[in-house]
Amino acid sequence: MPTSTDGSTGVGEDHTRRRLGLVRDAHVAVDRVACTGHGLCAQLLAGVTLDEWGYPIIGDDRVVGEDGRDLADTAVRLCPARALYLR
Ligand code: SF4
Repeated sequence: MPTSTDGSTGVGEDHTRRRLGLVRDAHVAVDRVACTGHGLCAQLLAGVTLDEWGYPIIGDDRVVGEDGRDLADTAVRLCPARALYLR
């Protein structure tokens, strides 16, 4: 299997590390088909506002630091439509 200069094997390994919670940097994203516009994400995350119908607009998707990660994890867990995720 080919490896990069840092010894990683590429996208698959990075995806696995993210799923295992070993990568702390992340970006917030919304599944726009699943989102039902409850707006909870905008109450928890500073980078998210709501449009006139109550659907999220993600202005800054970066999750910064341990506190940011904890808050983002909470928002993902509490999203009633399971539409919020980290990538
Ligand atoms: S909390 Fe979930 S369902 Fe509600 S607006 Fe945000 S992404 Fe959509």
